[in-house]
Amino acid sequence: MTKHKSFNIIDRYQEHNDVAAETLKKLDGLKLQLNPIHYSIVYECFINIDPIFSKRIEDALKTHTYDNQTAESLYTELISQFINLKIPTGEVNELLSNLLLELETWNESTQYKQAVITEEVDFIVKQNLPDKIIKRLEAVVMPTLQELFTDADRLRKCVIDSTEEIKQLKEELQQANKLAKTDELTGIPNRRGFNSFIEHVSKEAIVQTSSFALIIFDLDFFKTINDTYGHLIGDSTLRYIAKLLTSETKGRDYIARIGGEEFAVVLPNTHYSAALKVADNIRHEISTKKLVVKNHTKPLQLSVSGGVAMYQMNEVLDTLVQRADSALYHAKNHGRNRISGEESL
Ligand code: GH3
Ligand code: MG
Ligand code: MG
Repeated sequence: MTKHKSFNIIDRYQEHNDVAAETLKKLDGLKLQLNPIHYSIVYECFINIDPIFSKRIEDALKTHTYDNQTAESLYTELISQFINLKIPTGEVNELLSNLLLELETWNESTQYKQAVITEEVDFIVKQNLPDKIIKRLEAVVMPTLQELFTDADRLRKCVIDSTEEIKQLKEELQQANKLAKTDELTGIPNRRGFNSFIEHVSKEAIVQTSSFALIIFDLDFFKTINDTYGHLIGDSTLRYIAKLLTSETKGRDYIARIGGEEFAVVLPNTHYSAALKVADNIRHEISTKKLVVKNHTKPLQLSVSGGVAMYQMNEVLDTLVQRADSALYHAKNHGRNRISGEESL
């Protein structure tokens, strides 16, 4: 159900309409009730942002195991991914860290003060004090202090328990946020991770009045690779590309799998000509390696096409992606296994 990419804004708008129309047609064909849950699930399957999630939906639909219950659990998973992304992890973590620090300081300081008071009261009662004062001390001050200490001890125990829970919560929060942005198959960031990264890097570019480059790669004739070697080898190939991109990039460069066989490389503070070079080096590296596949005499020969575009100050990020996409299609249309930059459009 993978959707193909388009060339310009009007096409993109049309593409959304097409997906919406296809979703409604599919819902009708499957005789599914037209409700937001089914609509979101089938829509998600069509747009294929998270290929593994889309495949699970597709499999459920194909094997007729898609019912209201499956739909609800898929929907909950989908929504929770968005919620995880929307949680301001940094801010929440900072709040939790501050709270932890306050609690630990409170714990230490009350323990110390309790010890000081106990010692001082011991000292006072040993003095030669008038009976009247001793009586007051024994009847009121000491029992009240004892109560105060018991309360403090109880609270301290609560604080220690909460401290552990807060530490765990912090870890879970970070983990959930990371998972929502990670592609399960390759372990590199997915499209959601990519979207939040370019949003972050574009804000930085505005502040620094700098720019960044975006390369979009798409494996050539990947369908034929799946057909020839099987889907499992296809999957391994995608992992191999993810590894290769990891080793071919460095520092603040960012890579992501943004579609089925589509990868993005973001190069902060990089000029157009340098980005073209990086893209072509990666393309060259991929096309010159022959991969030996078990039980196949013919080695697997891969190639990628790539499109390069530069971020323009204050532009909508969709248009940047769209220019890199158009450049990619230029490369595809001009013979594949090549890189095209937006200036050749
Ligand atoms: P082109 O050179 O025009 O890009 O041709 P192509 O065959 O690569 O492009 P097409 O869009 O026709 O096919 C993409 C293929 O990628 C089809 C789909 O089965 C495969 N694919 C997408 N996601 C995955 C995945 O997660 N695993 C595997 N094994 N294949 C995938
Ligand atoms: Mg392809
Ligand atoms: Mg593709």
